[in-house]
Amino acid sequence: FALLADLIRQHAVTTPLKLAITDDTEVPHELTYADLDAQMDRVASRLTTAGLQAGSTIAICAKSSSAYASIFLGALRAGIAVAPLPPSATTSTLTKMLVDSEAKLVFLDSDGNAALPQQAPGHPMRVALDACPGLLTMEAWLHSAASGIALGRTVDADSAFNIIYSSGTTGEPKGVVQSHRMRWAHIQRARRYKYSATSVTLLSTPLYSNTTLVAFFPALAFGGTVVLMSKFDTGKYLALCEAHRATHTMLVPVQYLRLMQHEGFGQHNLSTFVMKLCSSAPFPAALKSEVLARWPGGLTEIYGMTEGGGSCLLEADVYPGKLHTVGRPAPGSEFRVISEGGTEVPEGSLGEIVGRSKGMMTGYHGRPGLTSESEWFDQEGRRYIRTGDLGRFDEDGFLILVDRIKDLLISGGFNVYPRDLEDILHQHTDISEAAVTGIPSEEWGESPAAFVVLKPFGNATPADLMRWVNNQVGKTQRLVSVTLLKELPRNAIGKVLKRELRQLARLERP
Ligand code: ATP
Ligand code: MG
Repeated sequence: FALLADLIRQHAVTTPLKLAITDDTEVPHELTYADLDAQMDRVASRLTTAGLQAGSTIAICAKSSSAYASIFLGALRAGIAVAPLPPSATTSTLTKMLVDSEAKLVFLDSDGNAALPQQAPGHPMRVALDACPGLLTMEAWLHSAASGIALGRTVDADSAFNIIYSSGTTGEPKGVVQSHRMRWAHIQRARRYKYSATSVTLLSTPLYSNTTLVAFFPALAFGGTVVLMSKFDTGKYLALCEAHRATHTMLVPVQYLRLMQHEGFGQHNLSTFVMKLCSSAPFPAALKSEVLARWPGGLTEIYGMTEGGGSCLLEADVYPGKLHTVGRPAPGSEFRVISEGGTEVPEGSLGEIVGRSKGMMTGYHGRPGLTSESEWFDQEGRRYIRTGDLGRFDEDGFLILVDRIKDLLISGGFNVYPRDLEDILHQHTDISEAAVTGIPSEEWGESPAAFVVLKPFGNATPADLMRWVNNQVGKTQRLVSVTLLKELPRNAIGKVLKRELRQLARLERP
């Protein structure tokens, strides 16, 4: 076990001039390992003079940048936990998160400042990372008190590293407390992703998402370089890959889709890539094979959850026959499949996936009730976390995910899995993106309705698509409507918001 902040200190000693982090601000803010280490010391000791100590929490609500990263890492050095908050969340959600996190200080940029309520209860002091009129700037804050407090106490491995608010795809955001030990488990796993001191990792998803962080911390732990984008843009992303000779990246499926659809994709030199990662949402098999065919280097899909109930890894380049799965349990992860009643189902049967790993959450912050609802114990009393995902393991031990349990619909007494219908829709040559959700039906109780984004030259009509799908499925699975959309409603990490689709369906069919 090692602390991330200590590993960074080691790199600052052995490779001080190596670029650790840079970003995509107009004048990129470049931090070598020596710069990063020195900045982490300044932040850590200034936080300590501000009265924060090991066990306290700060919040950061901003776009990804080098400054953001140095605050996060500096807090860690002092044993202070970080709650990275999404500036894209609504003011009321952010208020709840801020209060829940008990953050004593909040670092923000103009986006975060606009999103956070000015008069939140227990309102913590604000420090600005970019131009925010009237707010204390980062430099002014650093200089506003003498620092120089001796650091170097050891941080408890089981104390909080960060509190990540789960993306809230299915309900209220929950603060997942992850420990230093949990992050260490992620760093260990990253050997599988071929990280090394020569890695250059381009990240375009936000730093408040665990999907980004599982690629970000290992990249630094191994002494490589990280390039942070404040916002994803296909053209800019490809230009940065070339400019930095990127070897690693983490993207969500919809970003792979956008890149594959980008006209200029083939004109970029991506031969420096060693490994591309993907996580967070269903990754259609056809899209995986297109990425494998057109983008050099390996491709690993990660199935997991912020709560850390284990991970499955699909090394897609190694197992091209398994692209319909999310792979096999990562070393140190164990899964079981359980019935609705909470008993294990026979091998190979469908049920809820529960998992355990060396990197499990401590619990949901301040919510013991929700924490215990998320747990499942085997006969030896070992703790697992319920994923809320339905799936089964195939004969080779690869996990086939079926759907989120909350997204299932019951039509005429039968379970209908929206993802089955989405898979069929994705095979239509005119369709770029598709999502299916249940809408109330007098006859069936609930019926599946589809929302589709066509390819630029696709000209199928809703009636064509409905006929085409309904000819391939049983009575209870038949679509009752197909709605064409310009884009699907997604959260900031690219997950389709089924809640919003259901609302839309209600508006479309009163
Ligand atoms: P909330 O729990 O608040 O509803 P969330 O579950 O979306 O939000 P995360 O922890 O970010 O929050 O996501 C974990 C979930 O994302 C998994 O339970 C699974 O449904 C989905 N997921 C993650 N990786 C994959 C993958 N490779 N393929 C398909 N789905 C995935
Ligand atoms: Mg979840």
